[in-house]
Amino acid sequence: MSRINLMSAELANRIAAGEVVDRPSSVVKELVENSLDAKSKNIRISINQAGRDMIRVQDDGIGMDAIDAELCFLRHASSKIKSTFDLRRITTLGFRGEALPSIASVSNVTMLTYDGNSSTGYEVYVEPGKDPIVKEGLKRQGTIFTIRDLFFNTPARLKYLKSDNTENSSIIEVCENLAISNSGVAFELEIDGKRIFKTSGRGNLKETISEIYGLDIVRSTIEFNGENQFFKVSGYVCKPNISYASRYHILTFLNGRSVYIYKVNQALLTAFKDYLPPNRYPFAVISIEADYALVDVNVHPSKKEVRISEEEKLSKLVEESVKSALISDRPIYTPVKINVAGLEKLDKVKEQLTLSDVVNDEDNNIYQESIKEEENIIKDEVKEEVNNEVLPVIKEEENEKPVDLLESEPRTFLPDLEVIGQVLKTYIVCDGSDGIYLIDQHAAQERINYEKVLADFSKKEMEVVSPLSPILIDVSPSVMIGLDEKHIAQLHRIGFDVEVFTGNTLRVSTIPLLLKDDDDTSMIKDLICSCLQDKKCEMSDLKHLAIATVACKASIKANMFLTKEMMETLIKQLAQCKNPNNCPHGRPTIIKLSKYEIEKLFKRTGF
Ligand code: ADP
Ligand code: MG
Repeated sequence: MSRINLMSAELANRIAAGEVVDRPSSVVKELVENSLDAKSKNIRISINQAGRDMIRVQDDGIGMDAIDAELCFLRHASSKIKSTFDLRRITTLGFRGEALPSIASVSNVTMLTYDGNSSTGYEVYVEPGKDPIVKEGLKRQGTIFTIRDLFFNTPARLKYLKSDNTENSSIIEVCENLAISNSGVAFELEIDGKRIFKTSGRGNLKETISEIYGLDIVRSTIEFNGENQFFKVSGYVCKPNISYASRYHILTFLNGRSVYIYKVNQALLTAFKDYLPPNRYPFAVISIEADYALVDVNVHPSKKEVRISEEEKLSKLVEESVKSALISDRPIYTPVKINVAGLEKLDKVKEQLTLSDVVNDEDNNIYQESIKEEENIIKDEVKEEVNNEVLPVIKEEENEKPVDLLESEPRTFLPDLEVIGQVLKTYIVCDGSDGIYLIDQHAAQERINYEKVLADFSKKEMEVVSPLSPILIDVSPSVMIGLDEKHIAQLHRIGFDVEVFTGNTLRVSTIPLLLKDDDDTSMIKDLICSCLQDKKCEMSDLKHLAIATVACKASIKANMFLTKEMMETLIKQLAQCKNPNNCPHGRPTIIKLSKYEIEKLFKRTGF
């Protein structure tokens, strides 16, 4: 029974028009979405020469009868919507009836299809500008599209295509997204005869994540869930030990469609705020279920942008669900709100940040949170009022760009400090003759490491070492595809010798000397992945990443007992830093309580 309708002019006009196919990956996306809409359980994608030569998508879905097999190549022919009313409730991935005619206008298409009922299957051949030729074909359930010579008749578009690697990695990314958002469908992707990935399609999202991104990621995932009156959200985030230099690993699905929703992304990043340094991004698969009536996908031809009602409530839900998953996994901070109505003003904040707070509080992390609160308050409301005497440590620009500022930065000197002792196994208390100084030992060590790494990096020769055993790292197929001579040479220049070990595993046989003490290889992996993904791969980017990460992996942690000698050494090293007042992420390393402040707290002033 044929299903496809030709849309009325009115309906066709209501459809957000635009270019549907602009590169091979968009062809793949449209064809696979059609296979998914056709309820396929197995989808196989084969690509030759980055899709320029051939794209084949093979499915076992509902197929088409003779009439549909011909109609489907007409503009505004779709089985998915029939009236403008349906536009308000789109439950399928496609709905515009534009993909197939668009594809057929820029390539040579062969389609085989069988719906399981017709007396025969059909084979259809279409060339640009010509009517489809329909012949009888095999009775194989489902549909196989083969697209050849893409853009052969539109040289301008052909010219705009990027390198094979870039086009392939875009295809892989599209397929990864589709496979992750449809874990109940088995996907197989093959490029130039090489299997890129295969998923089992058993409907287990975690399994699909592991099939695509590898076991390292899955081991590190935390599940999150949440629900409110409009939305249900669920998914996985990785613990903060895995983070990236780009947002590439944040995937969002809305009713099974891969989408980008700015506010949801922001909500996720807010949830991670306390766990990741600036410019680092988490791994996350966020699946959102919403009533179809709340979602308008008819906004943009690529359907990646959508409009959602109650977006605020959605982002709040995402933030809260991810936050509580992170907290339940590893309570790093226990947030405490300092209630400062109107900030009357700075005094109150200062009062709350007294030494006694620090000493008496059960959870020393509360103090860090307090510092953050205080930082924000000061930044937002009383920037100018901050008296350097009292709070010498807030430097706004540090937050934004921690690297390379240092060169031009004037050196800040610490006063002479005498170590009194350690409190809460985290803070060093010093007598500074004009007040009490509290030093966050971890933040201080971060600053010291950061400046050391920066100095090391400035040396002309890049020193390398071979780790005792080669480092093996699993990377995703889309990262792997970036490995070519050029990138190998670039990595070599900054000290990494990298080669393919097996399938999606790389072997790293040398690393820069400054990373040698790092027993955690995730940072090395991350550097290499960003180089392979990032087409530009500038030395300065890698420097930035290496510095921030190395510095963050400070050897002295919070909650670590230090001897007096250790404390003295740390203070001495800190005093030699160009900017001893902030850790590389912009947080304070030192808090000072001036004599005046202490006197005020003891009510000794004013008489
Ligand atoms: P849309 O997906 O927006 O409806 P398309 O141009 O992508 O428009 O496809 C036109 C129609 O062709 C679809 O509505 C569907 O009925 C049919 N079709 C396309 N691909 C398949 C497939 N793989 N299996 C079954 N039917 C398909
Ligand atoms: Mg479609």
